[in-house]
Amino acid sequence: MRQPLVAGNWKMNGTRDESVALLKGIAAGMGDVLKAEVVVCPPAILISLAKENLSGSGVKLGGQNLDYHAAGAYTGEVSGPMLKDAGCAYVIIGHSERRSYYGEDDDLVARKFVAAQEYNLIPILCVGETLEEREADQTEEVVARQLDTVLEAVDIKVFAEAVIAYEPIWAIGTGVTATPEQAQETHAQIRKMIAEKDASVAEQVRIQYGGSMNPGNAEELRSQPDIDGGLIGGASLDAEDFLNICRAA
Ligand code: PEP
Repeated sequence: MRQPLVAGNWKMNGTRDESVALLKGIAAGMGDVLKAEVVVCPPAILISLAKENLSGSGVKLGGQNLDYHAAGAYTGEVSGPMLKDAGCAYVIIGHSERRSYYGEDDDLVARKFVAAQEYNLIPILCVGETLEEREADQTEEVVARQLDTVLEAVDIKVFAEAVIAYEPIWAIGTGVTATPEQAQETHAQIRKMIAEKDASVAEQVRIQYGGSMNPGNAEELRSQPDIDGGLIGGASLDAEDFLNICRAA
């Protein structure tokens, strides 16, 4: 039985004061989140503050990105050992905003995935197609290519612990959500790709949906057999909305 996983990706949002209010709100409501594992991924500069304010709540921490080097002359970057040291258990890898605004290609994403493993962080690997690709009927091909590059770089067994987030780019931050059927179709494809390499790993890997998930659509999405929770952007910046998604999971 896979435990649902809900992760909040705060992106580049939050002053310290705003973040404390949000973190305290999340921590206070965790008593009625009965089943889901909950992760918050704040900007790197706020991770320590998040750790302090989530202490004892059961909420785990994740980074939004990492550099695959351990340390050195890489101005502006944050490494796996630094995230680990700050208290992170997870790290988002290959978010579409990293791919499109910062030029991260499949090979770089695979290197980051390997680095996350190396430094004992659980990667949340994001895959997903643009609207043009969906309209050209290329969703399956694009997601397969993104996933294959990582599958070629690691032993399939690592996916028993790793997380995959299917995030159709056209649904991210747009208010347009994939229908449960659209999401399920791609989630099933992803699980099948893993099953072709190892059936028992495919049963264990958690596949989150991401893209305008909110308290109103979370339950229906989550009820699909291959959807194991969500990666939440906008709605993770409101404690009650985030908690309601966690409760729905
Ligand atoms: C995301 O950026 O990972 C995301 C899912 O954003 P939103 O929920 O705002 O669409």
